[in-house]
Amino acid sequence: MIQFQRVSKTYSNKTIALTGIDLFIEKGEFVFLVGPSGAGKTTFIKLVIRRELPTEGQVLIGRKNLSLMKNHEIPIFRRNIGVIFQDYKLLPNKTVFENVAFALEVIEASRKDVLKQVPAVLELVGLKDKAKVFPTELSGGEQQRVSLARAIVNRPLLLLADEPTGNLDPDTSWGIMDLLMEINKRGTTIVMATHNKNIVDRMRRRVVALENGQIVRDEQKGVYDI
Ligand code: ADP
Repeated sequence: MIQFQRVSKTYSNKTIALTGIDLFIEKGEFVFLVGPSGAGKTTFIKLVIRRELPTEGQVLIGRKNLSLMKNHEIPIFRRNIGVIFQDYKLLPNKTVFENVAFALEVIEASRKDVLKQVPAVLELVGLKDKAKVFPTELSGGEQQRVSLARAIVNRPLLLLADEPTGNLDPDTSWGIMDLLMEINKRGTTIVMATHNKNIVDRMRRRVVALENGQIVRDEQKGVYDI
């Protein structure tokens, strides 16, 4: 599903964010990406969604080499990838329903699909009763669940989560983790960048640890340990 072949990324200001990354993530895996601030986790995610291109090496998603992808192919490519962030990134002047529906509208889904898929995904994340509410009226955990609903409403093959529990208390974080596990069980590959040692240690999933832009550890059923 995700293949990095000797990938390096140096930004235009000469900051070296990643060097010599070789990594293969199979379809259906759940992988934690850990490492101190500045280790290169966000850069890794940006390379996967082709927000950045590698300076050296190849990034392949499915069979697609992202360096060879044409500009007009990028929006279609991104439709198969859901992304959630620490700060939710919801549209403040749209309701919960509209925030999630928007993800379908941009891909020109029919009204019928919107009216079917949005309530179904809000039910999954436990926000059926909040459809008409605006984001500012929700708790942090609820906002993250809206963000998650928006990321998965399109049934992506791949979900990337960049510090999704970074602003949440432990109980609320576990609620988000339960949802991510459920989404993973349904077949979506998940890569989650995190600093949350408790979560990583209790989940016992594959852990890829980055330090100074390099992979220093890659373990099945790993722990956080930096
Ligand atoms: P992490 O997500 O692990 O905190 P990042 O991928 O954000 O790490 O950053 C890795 C390194 O690349 C850091 O030194 C950071 O300052 C640098 N960096 C990130 N984005 C940019 C950018 N757009 N331009 C220049 N340097 C950047």
